[in-house]
Amino acid sequence: MSSADHQLLLSHIRDVPDWPEPGIAFKDITPLLREPTALARTIELLASGAGGPVDAVVGIEARGFILGAPVAYRLGAGFVPVRKEGKLPSDTSAASYDLEYGQATIEVHRDAFTPGERVLIIDDVLATGGTVRATVDLVRAAGADVAGVSVLMELGFLHGRDKLPDVEVSTLLSL
Ligand code: AMP
Repeated sequence: MSSADHQLLLSHIRDVPDWPEPGIAFKDITPLLREPTALARTIELLASGAGGPVDAVVGIEARGFILGAPVAYRLGAGFVPVRKEGKLPSDTSAASYDLEYGQATIEVHRDAFTPGERVLIIDDVLATGGTVRATVDLVRAAGADVAGVSVLMELGFLHGRDKLPDVEVSTLLSL
């Protein structure tokens, strides 16, 4: 990525200290979504993380929906939502994973993929990596191939990549 793009994206991400709880610096992407050039470059750059044609883009609730759907459109692919437990209306497969405190479960529709399809996974932040790990496992359990994971930013100090040694992960910003 050019240093101009790097600066453009970085300057439109806002750190909100101690939100949603003390000690967390929340990476707020709403300024980036609001600025047309920053949004367009983000979508272009995330789409280039596919490394080839893909059949579907998976977006992880909720900011992965906002970024993933335009990436799917850009790539001429379909879009598949991975949602929090209990939100999808038809038959689902589920994966659970550990959070710092407690557990989370995500789901995808059982009929979302045809075996052998190539899938690109999109999210805004790679933090501890648990969410992306569970998503990769869900997609593979459904018979599809994970072509790659493309995220806007990676919080390197949380070492999320360590949970993803078997996946091509591309991040636009390392923070
Ligand atoms: P992870 O710890 O990698 O499983 O991250 C879980 C989810 O939480 C991701 O989908 C991110 O969107 C979100 N997330 C984690 N940490 C942050 C943060 N510091 N700022 C904004 N979103 C975050």
